[in-house]
Amino acid sequence: MPELPEVEAVVRKLRQEAVGAVISGAVVFRPRTTYPQPPDKLEEVVGRTIRAVERRGKNIVVSFDADLALRIHLRMTGNLYVIPDASLRRHTVRALLTFEDRRAMVFDDPRVLGTMHVHSAEELEEKLACVGVDPLSRAFTRQRFVEAARASRRPVKLFLMDQSPICGLGNIYAAEALFRARIHPGKPAGKLRAAKLADLHAAIRKVLREAIPAAIRSYRTPGDHAGVEYFVYARMGEPCRVCDRNIRRIAQAGRSTYFCPHCQRA
Ligand SMILES: [Zn+2]
Repeated sequence: MPELPEVEAVVRKLRQEAVGAVISGAVVFRPRTTYPQPPDKLEEVVGRTIRAVERRGKNIVVSFDADLALRIHLRMTGNLYVIPDASLRRHTVRALLTFEDRRAMVFDDPRVLGTMHVHSAEELEEKLACVGVDPLSRAFTRQRFVEAARASRRPVKLFLMDQSPICGLGNIYAAEALFRARIHPGKPAGKLRAAKLADLHAAIRKVLREAIPAAIRSYRTPGDHAGVEYFVYARMGEPCRVCDRNIRRIAQAGRSTYFCPHCQRA
């Protein structure tokens, strides 16, 4: 599943290619992608110019002139990119905006779990209101992080993955940040000492910042993490890169958590 660095990679590429483009047509091939909005609502952006492409947590916001925006969530398998000609689209493209210069921005989503919606600026803010603080934004201060953690009784890994206090961290980077900060994933967030929380705050920013260039290089299709070397994620039974002991896996809320039992003691 694309996490924050992959979504950021998609946004940066799209920003370079799509800003300034004028929309000449809109087609939805799978109504499920725009549900509950009717597919023809996408036609509201025809004739408009793309002004900005931004990331809000794991949402992608494509803004047009005249107070309109598209909010896209890639979910498990989605990808959003520009192709040189609409006729060259893959069969897994679920919605498409053609540009006046024949290029097209396509929403490619093999499993049809992603979503694409048209909003006014006001509606957009309402939809994004419950999205927590972005860990790469200035608003993600150490103090704010410590306060949110102190208020949580959940195991720290689940606290990190809950999108309402902090948005954008998923299974991979939550595990990697905990490893860097040498914190056991099962430890209650609210019981961590201030110094540990400060380490974790710094580790979150570091792992995400480091992952973005790798995502830009390697993110072609969702699920593709080629070229990225993790410390713990998906490395069960392999030696820890720091202490050489075997990485372990536990289940937390139905998901696998990877950690080093030596570097991250309970
Ligand atoms: Zn270790």
